[in-house]
Formats: sequence, structure tokens, C-alpha cells
Amino acid sequence: MPAIIDLHSHTTASDGADTPSELIAHAYQAGINVLGLTDHDTTSGWDEASAALGGTHMTLIRGIELSAQVIDDIPGAIPRSVHLLGYLPDPEHPRLVEETVRIRRHRDDRLRLMVDKLSVDFDITWDEVAAHIPPGATPGRPHIAHILIEKGYFVDTTAAFAGPLRGDGEYHVPHYAPRLTTAISVISEAGGVPILAHPYTGERSGAVNHEAPLEQILRDYEVFVEAGLAGLEINHRENTEEGKRVLAQVALEFDLIVTGSSDFHGTKKPNHLGENTTAEDQLERILERASGSLPLS
Ligand code: AMP
Ligand code: ZN
Ligand code: FE
Ligand code: FE
Repeated sequence: MPAIIDLHSHTTASDGADTPSELIAHAYQAGINVLGLTDHDTTSGWDEASAALGGTHMTLIRGIELSAQVIDDIPGAIPRSVHLLGYLPDPEHPRLVEETVRIRRHRDDRLRLMVDKLSVDFDITWDEVAAHIPPGATPGRPHIAHILIEKGYFVDTTAAFAGPLRGDGEYHVPHYAPRLTTAISVISEAGGVPILAHPYTGERSGAVNHEAPLEQILRDYEVFVEAGLAGLEINHRENTEEGKRVLAQVALEFDLIVTGSSDFHGTKKPNHLGENTTAEDQLERILERASGSLPLS
């Protein structure tokens, strides 16, 4: 039987619902053989997840999902937020540490500002939000959603994101993130394998304009491939079907690694462990390329 390989998941170290130990237990129950742990902008969940592996016979691919942005070279361009998965980096590499500390600090400032704005119209305080963000965890909008749900304003995280937490809404505040080319080089220098997360989730999203003719899309991706981009997360529920076809052509053109994963967030998102998976030969390519840390089992 082929191994079930799911390379993208979150814990309470960022915006997942499960602690790292709970994630390992849930992945084991779901029959996952190889699990990627990829919290946003932190590796602080790695140790607890590693310690929980005992007796599961699972392999843990330690990773991160780095916040990044792409700013088109035209005056007044609005930055697009993108996510870069990095597999098996050295968690103590100075550039990686510096970049993640900076992102988390800005995320913290930004979340406080969002709570300030929200507190005009909703019964919410920063202390309430901060109380359920564990030390070292990456603060994000889902932490605000948690309080708004607890207070009965919304039924779930998705509803809160469709409401006041919208990226284009009046309460939204952006946060610092490195350019995608910088993020790719940070992950590479730390010995990790940079793979673009959910690259095409819809119109005007993602690292390039996917509505452009294929030749233009290939030229745009070439910049990231030259910066060291190693792969694309094609099989992800948020990529559109048309997007997946385009991305497959990009991967073919540049011989990129192709992954698939659930992007599991526990009860914070409907995604199920193992709903999308990665082929064994593609995992092999990641392992061959990685030099920052080791897979654990
Ligand atoms: P932030 O990083 O603070 O800007 O919040 C965005 C994060 O919240 C994303 O990385 C997702 O993991 C999560 N998220 C975004 N949209 C939703 C949604 N509709 N439902 C649940 N979680 C979401
Ligand atoms: Zn998330
Ligand atoms: Fe993401
Ligand atoms: Fe994610």
C-alpha cells in the first residue's frame, strides 16, 4: 500500500485547534504515514510534536509556512499575500530566526490594532484574545475569531472571516511579510525546501497573475524558480480546478516538485487530514534536497 503523505498542517503554535501532541494523535487515527507540520511563521510546535511520535510509526516532516508578499512592479500596486512552505529547514538559522521573529512581532502589533478597531462595534478586548494565544505562538485573525465565536457573534471561523475579519474589510490591518523572493532565499539558506502553498486560490490571488496567457505566467514564475522555488502545492482544496491545470503546466516546464496536502487546522477549518496527499516520489525529491534538519520517525 502506498504511504499516505500529508505535508501541511497547523497546531496551537499558530492558528490550528490541536496542540502538537493532539495533532500527532489525530494524524495517527486518520491513518497518515508521513505528516508535515507547517505552522505559520514559527517552529515552536516542533519539539512537542516530535516527542509525541513514539509508537505511532509515523514520519514527521518538520516545516513552516512563511508569510510572504508579492508586490507588482507598477506604481500603487497593492501587495498580494502569499504563503511559502519550507520543509526541513534548520530552525536556528539566523536569517530564518530573524525573519520569523520580525513577522510575529508585526503580527502581534497588527492584531492589537484590529482588536482596537473591532472593539468599537463588538464586545472584545485584547486581553481576551491574548489569553488563548500560547507563548511563542504566531498570532493571527483566527485568534480574534475564537473570541467573536465564544461571544456568540458568529457560528464558526469561516463565518467570522466572511464578516469583520475579511481581508478587504474596514477592520483589517495588514502586517509585515518579506517579499516572496526573500522568503524563498531565507528557507533555502536555512537548508529547507521552499514550496509555494496553495498557489492559485482564485482571481487576483497568488504570486503571479494566473489569468494571463500561459507564456506570461511561465515568465512570471521563472523569477521565483530562479530565486530557488522548488515546488508547488497543487493538490489543495483552495486551488481552483482551472488553477490546478495551469499549475501542472508550470511544474512541468520548470521540473518542480508537486505536493498535495490538507492544510489541516483542526476544528478551525473544515479541511480533513489526508484529504489531499503527496506522491512518494515527490516526497523523495524533498528529502534529497533538504539539508537543514532531518525527518523524524
Ligand atoms: P492572518 O494570518 O492573521 O492574516 O489570518 C489568515 C489565516 O487564517 C490563514 O492563513 C488561514 O489559515 C486562516 N483563515 C483564512 N481564511 C479562513 C477562513 N475562511 N476560515 C478559517 N480560517 C481561515
Ligand atoms: Zn492558518
Ligand atoms: Fe496558507
Ligand atoms: Fe496553512
